[in-house]
Amino acid sequence: MQPGGCAYAKDGRKRKNMPAKLDMSKKVFGKCTFPGGVHPPHRKLTEGLPVERVSLTPGHDVVIPMVQHIGAPCKPVVALKQEVKAGEVIGRADAFVSAPVHSPCNGVVKSIIPLFHPSGRKIESVVITVGEQQPEPKPWQEFPAEFDLNAISPETIAQVSDNCGLVGAGGAAFPTRVKLVANPAKPIDVVLLNGCECEPYLTSDHRLMLESPLSIITGLRLAMRAVGAAKGIIAIEDNKQDAINKMFDLVKKIDGLHIAVCKTKYPQGGEKQLIRAVTGREVPLWGLPMDVGVMVSNVGTASTLAWSCFDGRVFNERIVTVTGKGVNRPGNYMVPVGMKVEDLLAHCGGIKNNVAKILLGGPMMGATAYRLDVPVMKGTSGITVMTDDEYRLLDETACIRCSRCVDNCPVRLLPTTIAHAVKARDIQKAVDNHITACIECGCCSYVCPAQIPLVQYIRAGKIKARELKK
Ligand code: SF4
Ligand code: SF4
Repeated sequence: MQPGGCAYAKDGRKRKNMPAKLDMSKKVFGKCTFPGGVHPPHRKLTEGLPVERVSLTPGHDVVIPMVQHIGAPCKPVVALKQEVKAGEVIGRADAFVSAPVHSPCNGVVKSIIPLFHPSGRKIESVVITVGEQQPEPKPWQEFPAEFDLNAISPETIAQVSDNCGLVGAGGAAFPTRVKLVANPAKPIDVVLLNGCECEPYLTSDHRLMLESPLSIITGLRLAMRAVGAAKGIIAIEDNKQDAINKMFDLVKKIDGLHIAVCKTKYPQGGEKQLIRAVTGREVPLWGLPMDVGVMVSNVGTASTLAWSCFDGRVFNERIVTVTGKGVNRPGNYMVPVGMKVEDLLAHCGGIKNNVAKILLGGPMMGATAYRLDVPVMKGTSGITVMTDDEYRLLDETACIRCSRCVDNCPVRLLPTTIAHAVKARDIQKAVDNHITACIECGCCSYVCPAQIPLVQYIRAGKIKARELKK
């Protein structure tokens, strides 16, 4: 097998024509899948638990980092001791690829200083002390059926998504406005909503599909209107039959909307893997979904877009799954963006004594939380608190050349070759083997019988590769 994928040569050029035909004669089509990937245990402890709203405690602090997205950092637009209202802009950037940040509460600006960010770096942040009087929380489940989509122009939809600070809620946090501005050179014919939620443990998207399906459908139709796409598809894994039924009830009478039932496999929700699984189109190695006429968004992003277009609300709260055996009251929570992780865990009854690891995100792609005073951000879909029987750190041994990492890599890379090159500090060799195409899904580490932390080596190598490129 060649590095760089079955469809692409080492230099990134396409080897042969891949299927690009999208047969959608049915409202629901199924068995969508992609090559490679793994089947981690389900462990969705919270899938049956309805979303509960979390309130901030007056006198506590919330932390709003100026970087919560891919692109240019925001600059604070508030001053020390200034009173702010819930939903008020507190940071923005002029760059096209960026998204403003808003206050989650009424309060007073306590400080504007660099503070620890979930990434582990210190990032300029606005700290707000939560005030005594807070506005009534807005409903988020019952989206009004009479909302008139034709009353809003495509340009306004993109503008509203920018005003409300919308970014990808699935974790990537890419500013949505950039995707919603139609590009005549790269027409989009399909908007694909990702409702797969392929990470074990996490259930926030699943609950959203069950509890607020109409906001998702409306957000999908708004996105289709913005980019001029005729088809809208909601992709859901086949382990969420209740969500498939719920969404089907709504799409069955709407032209152009479909449900794609995907085989349960990780990382089904990876952008390129999902496009391949659902449409049969293969995004070029260094290309973007728009190169194959597709725009991908998360169901949470679509829901927030619908609420923003309906009544101008901003992206200052989101659903977070707090899960794992190590938390006393696991569940799905509607959490103000900026609430500290330690405050959220306290709301969930605290953590147990035998906690071995806390992850921001799920067990496959989540980042280890080294401190709990970091905030919930726009891209925080879950917090996984693992006990010592859920998490074990085993000693790395020698590679036995079994090729499992290669067979399971969804990007068709050679993880063992790349990791070996990184260990040997031969970054050029790692680059030649397409290290930068790695999506850091962790499948290679997951299947490696020698317990080699392949993805960690690759992550470290990618940082070195960026330095080399500079
Ligand atoms: S982490 Fe990278 S190399 Fe490993 S399986 Fe995923 S895409 Fe392939
Ligand atoms: S899975 Fe592990 S042991 Fe097997 S070839 Fe890959 S690195 Fe080596």
